Amino acid sequence: MVKCPNCGAEIDHLINWSGVEEKFIFRVNKNGNVEYEYVDSSSKTKNDYCCPECGEVLFFDEELATKFLKGEISAEMWRFHRGKE
Ligand SMILES: [Zn+2]
Repeated sequence: MVKCPNCGAEIDHLINWSGVEEKFIFRVNKNGNVEYEYVDSSSKTKNDYCCPECGEVLFFDEELATKFLKGEISAEMWRFHRGKE
C-alpha cells in the first residue's frame, strides 16, 4: 500500500480517467437558448490518474503512476514535481 500524497489515505490503486476531449463552441442564441456547436475532438487523449479517496489528479502518465504504486515516488518527490508544473 502507498499513501496518497494529497490526502494521506492508504491506497492500493488509482482511478484512471481516459478519453478524448471534444471541443464545442458554446453560445446563447437570440431566443435565450444555449447552443453547442461541435468543432472537433482533440488528438491528445485525456489520461488522468486520480486518488480513489480524494479524487485529486495525481499523475498524467502511466509510467509515473506505476512507479507511485510500486512505492518508488515519495510524497516529497510528488510535491516537488507538482510545484514545477
Ligand atoms: Zn487522496
